[in-house]
Amino acid sequence: MFDPIELAEKTRRDVCRDLSRKYYRFRPARFYGGIATADCVGCCLRCVFCWSWKVVSTPKTSGQFYSPEDVARRLTSIAKKKRLKKMRISGNEPTICREHLIKVLENIDESYLFILETNGILIGSDESYAEDLSRFSNLFVRVSLKGACGEEFSRLTGAVPEGFDLQLKALENLVRHGVDCHPACMISFSSPENLDALRRRLKAIHLNFGDFEAEELIPYPHVVERLKKLGYDLGHYGIGKGQE
Ligand code: SF4
Repeated sequence: MFDPIELAEKTRRDVCRDLSRKYYRFRPARFYGGIATADCVGCCLRCVFCWSWKVVSTPKTSGQFYSPEDVARRLTSIAKKKRLKKMRISGNEPTICREHLIKVLENIDESYLFILETNGILIGSDESYAEDLSRFSNLFVRVSLKGACGEEFSRLTGAVPEGFDLQLKALENLVRHGVDCHPACMISFSSPENLDALRRRLKAIHLNFGDFEAEELIPYPHVVERLKKLGYDLGHYGIGKGQE
């Protein structure tokens, strides 16, 4: 098991350089009704179901460095060309290069909704990160919980169970600083009892959070193959039915 904060620090050395950060793709995507997307390189977790595992596991050799101005310019150009009103950084974990992310946000016109998809670890470990994000009125943060409790989190991500508390803490910090946010949870590997307990914990942070977004595993062939290699009995979780 590893400490996700330490892994974030190590990854930062590979994917952040001055104010620039590594990305491996810029594209329009169909999610959220259409969204301009920049796919970044580098993450502080190692989820067994990660759909971009190839990039997550090779931060040194994946992608190229882009300045925040260039990222904002590319997102804006995609949004204009495809008439999209939303943007995001996706792929790996957008919060790893903090100064870069803040600069990207500063360079995005406020008329666009920026959706920050994060595992929340770094926002949970440092409240001032949430405070920094609270400056942006066009920002919405989606915190993706990896499992429903510390034990599930650890089994799914390889990180210490305390990382799950940081995910919840991120929501607390964001709420405290008035940042528009909501939780999503990967439920495919969770027991109903753990999901009920999670709902109670989330409600205690914000009443609306009891109604969290349920994220289910997308059985891309490369994801299914990796899970099988890791010894997961996919039938047990009802995953991949009709895919084989
Ligand atoms: S947090 Fe997201 S990008 Fe990082 S390993 Fe997990 S699924 Fe992959």
